[in-house]
Amino acid sequence: MIKGQKSVRGGIEDFLCPFTDIYITQGSNGKLSHRGIMANDVRGREVGVRYAYYAPCTCKCVKIYLESGQAMWQSTGKVRFANGRVDYATFMTAHDNSFDAKVGMIVPQGNQLGNMGTKGNATGVHCHIQISQSSDTSWFKNQYGIYKFNNEYDLDDCYFVDNTNIIYGMGGNWKTTDKVPVTPTPAPSPSGADQLLYPGSKVRFDGIFKVDILKSPISSNLFGCCQLTGCSYNDYYNEKVKAYHWLPCGPFVECDSNGNPTKDQVFTGGSSLCKNDNIYTVKEIDIPSNSAKLNIDGRDVWVFSKYLYEVSNN
Ligand SMILES: [Zn+2]
Repeated sequence: MIKGQKSVRGGIEDFLCPFTDIYITQGSNGKLSHRGIMANDVRGREVGVRYAYYAPCTCKCVKIYLESGQAMWQSTGKVRFANGRVDYATFMTAHDNSFDAKVGMIVPQGNQLGNMGTKGNATGVHCHIQISQSSDTSWFKNQYGIYKFNNEYDLDDCYFVDNTNIIYGMGGNWKTTDKVPVTPTPAPSPSGADQLLYPGSKVRFDGIFKVDILKSPISSNLFGCCQLTGCSYNDYYNEKVKAYHWLPCGPFVECDSNGNPTKDQVFTGGSSLCKNDNIYTVKEIDIPSNSAKLNIDGRDVWVFSKYLYEVSNN
């Protein structure tokens, strides 16, 4: 991963590889200091450089070991691992010379977690990382006197390597998030909903829509969708549409034509498709235009009722 990277699908964070480059100097069950444990010693592109690494998920510091620049971290919620499992992550990082973690601190996914280093009997600058796919914080010696977790997994079963350069990966089966698709959550059952909209109806968007144009400046994070609003592309282009016909990008997810989220999640006017799985409450109905007013991200917008799907209130 790179600094600031986040990956959330279906409301669950993907557990990302905390390193931008990986060169593994000792793998799982390595003869030097990894006998009987699943751990990797990872250095970066250049030997001896104390590269930063980042929080693979939003995590909390649960234990610290100052003498070895070491911390035990635990995800604040369940995460998705590269083997498809969804569970808590409890993991150890070690050898950070500039260690400043404190028990209880929470680091959001993508923020810096530490630096590779040599603190605590390490040979050469690296980060030792060891991961349990569980919330179990037990940390105990195995038969070789090496500390381990319960429920350890090999690292290629743990983290996704989106934006990580694998310089030397010891032949691991490294996966990016697109190799582990997420089944879209099925639409709520329409039973109990009569599909007649009125103020107070709970609705969601029914379908996949084209991002026809992005409002300038791009930082306004608004887009035009001719299909949803009935405004023409030229009207959008010439800024002749009303403010309530621009839709906030925020809750819309960029997807492919099958509704699967794209990797970059960056909208492009004229070629991106998007969907929105949130549930909104209809504020007002306009019968002549057959439109409904919704409040999306704090902004009132009017869209055609026919693209809204009423869901049961309970
Ligand atoms: Zn190690």
